[in-house]
Amino acid sequence: MYAGQIIEKAKVSDLTHNPKHPYTMACWRHLGSRCRERPDLQKKYPRVSPQPGQPARAAALPPRCSHAIAGLCEVKEPPEFIIEPDHVAACWLYQ
Ligand code: SF4
Repeated sequence: MYAGQIIEKAKVSDLTHNPKHPYTMACWRHLGSRCRERPDLQKKYPRVSPQPGQPARAAALPPRCSHAIAGLCEVKEPPEFIIEPDHVAACWLYQ
């Protein structure tokens, strides 16, 4: 979830090992860098700096994403796109 919205749905194993939404990936990078019990996640998602900028309002999610598509992300909220069976992400990268 991001700002109260479900942004990615998948099996737990896919969310853990094959996340697709940029925010899910950022969450794993953040958690992986703090989780001593999961060196596999630390290696896969090395520590990164927090996203710059202010936390987004639910109605204005795109500004903090480094993958944002100009003229699209800041204008229109993405629907859920089917990436593969049982894996969807609300992100314009998968349109
Ligand atoms: S829809 Fe755009 S701003 Fe939102 S996560 Fe995807 S690329 Fe980033």
